[in-house]
Amino acid sequence: MYDYLIVGAGLFGSIFAYEATKAGKKCLVIDKRSHIGGNVYTEEVEGIAVHKYGAHIFHTSNKEVWDYMNSFVEFNRYTNSPMAIYKDEIYNLPFNMNTFCKLWNIKTPDEAKEIIEKQKKEAALPEGCEPKNLAEQAISLVGRDIYEKLVKGYTEKQWGKRAEELPAFIIRRLPVRFTFDNNYFNDKYQGIPSGVKGYTGIIEKMLEGVEVRLNTDFFDDRDTYMNLAGKIVYTGMIDEFYDYCYGELEYRSLRFETETLDIPNFQGNAVNNYTEYEVPYTRIIEHKHFDFGTQDKTVITREYPATWKKGDEPYYPMNDDKNNSLFSRYKEKAEAEGKVIFGGRLGEYKYYDMHQVVLRALEVVRTEVYNQ
Ligand SMILES: Cc1cc2nc3c(=O)[nH]c(=O)nc-3n(C[C@H](O)[C@H](O)[C@H](O)COP(=O)(O)OP(=O)(O)OC[C@H]3O[C@@H](n4cnc5c(N)ncnc54)[C@H](O)[C@@H]3O)c2cc1C
Repeated sequence: MYDYLIVGAGLFGSIFAYEATKAGKKCLVIDKRSHIGGNVYTEEVEGIAVHKYGAHIFHTSNKEVWDYMNSFVEFNRYTNSPMAIYKDEIYNLPFNMNTFCKLWNIKTPDEAKEIIEKQKKEAALPEGCEPKNLAEQAISLVGRDIYEKLVKGYTEKQWGKRAEELPAFIIRRLPVRFTFDNNYFNDKYQGIPSGVKGYTGIIEKMLEGVEVRLNTDFFDDRDTYMNLAGKIVYTGMIDEFYDYCYGELEYRSLRFETETLDIPNFQGNAVNNYTEYEVPYTRIIEHKHFDFGTQDKTVITREYPATWKKGDEPYYPMNDDKNNSLFSRYKEKAEAEGKVIFGGRLGEYKYYDMHQVVLRALEVVRTEVYNQ
């Protein structure tokens, strides 16, 4: 008999297993995939750590979280500075003075501010009117040029709908920076695990000495698994756990196309966004640049947004009002459970970044394992 059966060897499940084992608990981790790590899994190809499920950049302002991750492996100094490619033009992201100089051939913050303000004014809605859709909302925030070249097509591809059909609330803020600063994140700490093992090296260390069964789906033998341990930590889809009794939650999915190229450098940057609608992928990731690689070959991945249907990989929870209120019914049911703890991105139906998963998992460990 185990103290804990942990369903999911992703970041949440692995942190829980590591901490509970350290506290003397007997844990079994199962995962339906053929590898550990969930979506942070990295795989070695040609001496390069390939982010199998899309670009993963660790960033946080929480020192406790940063130190925790660095206690497993060393992180490098990678700073996320994506480029945006629109037709035959290339721009820096996030929107900053480098972007504005290229867009309008100007030099100073005052010139940039003036243009943005003028464009916002031109698109202003009559007094008392709220933006009806994403297009109106985005133009009211950043003006027409930035919207048309850098926001419109990318967002439409991400959501699978035209901007005029998307609700305004999807974009609440579109930050603009009037400094020459291409650092995508505002967090104090940022980086990627150094070396060819990438994030998988962290998960391996967390799961050292823990019994792990891969290619093992909880639902293939639910009754047996439910009785194998005193408690279950479940990091899969919460609606699936309850057999969709209140209905299905919605997700967005992705499709990845990866290829190895016999050249050392394809795009000179780890992440390039393609912001025009006609190019079907949203980004190309060149993995070696996450760790300043100098290998002879390179590996690139094209990322295509995809509509999710049952059986597909649920990458992004769709946290709109409709789905959040459906989730709250599942959450009520979950809170009444004595034996099952729901955690992580799918268990809590929340778009958590990695640092948020670390914090949540450590919080759950404190209350669950240490009764604090
Ligand atoms: C494309 C993409 C890019 C991202 N980029 C970033 C980034 O740059 N920075 C950042 O901080 N975060 C990023 N994230 C978020 C990050 O991936 C998550 O925060 C983190 O992986 C969540 O960990 P988790 O353990 O909750 O979930 P998961 O990684 O999804 O792990 C859940 C595990 O449970 C397993 N499982 C599910 N159901 C069952 C079952 N029935 N039986 C057995 N096993 C099961 C799954 O196979 C999976 O391995 C990104 C996410 C995506 C999708």
